[in-house]
Amino acid sequence: MHMPLSDQASPPEVYVRGAPPPPPTQPLEGQRHVAVAVIGAGFTGLSTALHLAEAGVEVAVLEAKEIGWGASGRAFGQVVPYLKPGHEAILRHYGAERGQRIVDAVAEGPDLVFELIMRHGIECWALRSGLIFAAHSPAGRRDLERRTQYWQQRHAPVEMLEGAHCAEMIGSPLYPAASLDRRGGNINPFAYARGLAHAAVKFGATLHARTPVRGIVRRDGRWAIDAGGAGLTADNVVIATNAYTGDLWPGLRESIIPMRGHGFVTEPLSDNVRHTILPERQSLTDTRQLYSGVRMLPDGRLHGSAHGPSFGAEPRADWRRVDARIRRLFPQLGAVKWQQAWTGWVAMTTDHFPRLHELAPGLYAGLGYNGRGIAAATMMGRDLAALARGARGARDDATVFPVTPLRPLGWHRIVPTLIRGLVQVYRVRDMVDEYRLRRTAV
Ligand SMILES: Cc1cc2nc3c(=O)[nH]c(=O)nc-3n(C[C@H](O)[C@H](O)[C@H](O)COP(=O)(O)OP(=O)(O)OC[C@H]3O[C@@H](n4cnc5c(N)ncnc54)[C@H](O)[C@@H]3O)c2cc1C
Repeated sequence: MHMPLSDQASPPEVYVRGAPPPPPTQPLEGQRHVAVAVIGAGFTGLSTALHLAEAGVEVAVLEAKEIGWGASGRAFGQVVPYLKPGHEAILRHYGAERGQRIVDAVAEGPDLVFELIMRHGIECWALRSGLIFAAHSPAGRRDLERRTQYWQQRHAPVEMLEGAHCAEMIGSPLYPAASLDRRGGNINPFAYARGLAHAAVKFGATLHARTPVRGIVRRDGRWAIDAGGAGLTADNVVIATNAYTGDLWPGLRESIIPMRGHGFVTEPLSDNVRHTILPERQSLTDTRQLYSGVRMLPDGRLHGSAHGPSFGAEPRADWRRVDARIRRLFPQLGAVKWQQAWTGWVAMTTDHFPRLHELAPGLYAGLGYNGRGIAAATMMGRDLAALARGARGARDDATVFPVTPLRPLGWHRIVPTLIRGLVQVYRVRDMVDEYRLRRTAV
């Protein structure tokens, strides 16, 4: 049983230490009315609240735990100008006109994030030196070359790195080629969430942490939100609970597939080694199917992601997989001491596209970022704010993603079994690809 609000520890200490204190928040007490109530204080909910508050709309955010406690405070930290599907798949799925609008808007996602960071003075390790996507197989290389060419034709700062130059930029001889996309960057996601919260409060939003919402009903032409002993009425409600969605609205939980993502950090590395790894401080992922991120944190720690148990209760920290991969990637490291591990829930969708719903008049939800939510959820929040302000008439233009009907997955209960099988297939395929890669490494 997926019980995301009770089966994980707090966000990682390394992020919490690198973040400003949260704005003061109180659990909701009593009853009051607001124009818009937002449920969930991650990037989706906080961006919604910030955009509404900046527009002078009275907005309150209700968060079951603490600000940034969900996936937002646990993300790997890459701000990516892509969705999981490539531009060709987006055009096929949404058609030429809408598809192109989505491709372009997603590509501008990092602009939105870094512009908010600058404008609101958010201290979150923001570094826009780009992202490196390495080819772990010949097919992966062809995909990267196609993508790089597509963006170069649009004059975007994207380039292929080859051979010795590629090895130098990564600090490893493992990959023969990679694509460097300078539009992306890296942040401390937990600090970014807290920064968005501070900005929203500054513009007049009210945040209520430790306020789990138990139910939402339509009463006397308004939405009534039950938060235990306290409650809100609101003209519009935005559900921003993503992979942490419970039973708030029939079918919403069943419309996505929550899967665990895993993060690990080492102790600070010695000075002479840390400079050899990703010397320009891009983060690195590769074209394999399962998680593969690596980056250096500002204090010299190595941060890696690796695949682990996808479902079930919080697992015990298991460094073996990430340790083995890091040693193969950076042989110069020798033994490293892993210090912290954490997990968080990622909301997957069957086609890997995010979802924007109007569940009932004045009740909206945005979710399903498939592990690419820092920019996409920030963008979704901006669009949810537009809808909640009444952009409904011009809805098709008001949002990047179209408003679609809710589609619960009929086979939701057997998803873990299916995905466990699929993950095994991916794992074997990734291992074979990596074996071949190491045999041909320069
Ligand atoms: C390990 C990991 C690595 C990732 N790496 C990246 C990355 O590098 N780049 C990237 O772009 N994306 C990444 N992601 C994805 C990204 O973190 C998410 O897409 C994004 O944070 C989603 O934001 P959100 O606000 O929609 O949801 P969340 O941040 O999950 O927020 C939902 C909130 O709703 C609250 N909530 C739930 N139910 C209730 C209720 N009943 N009442 C009140 N509150 C409630 C929860 O407590 C939670 O705080 C990663 C995710 C994980 C887990």
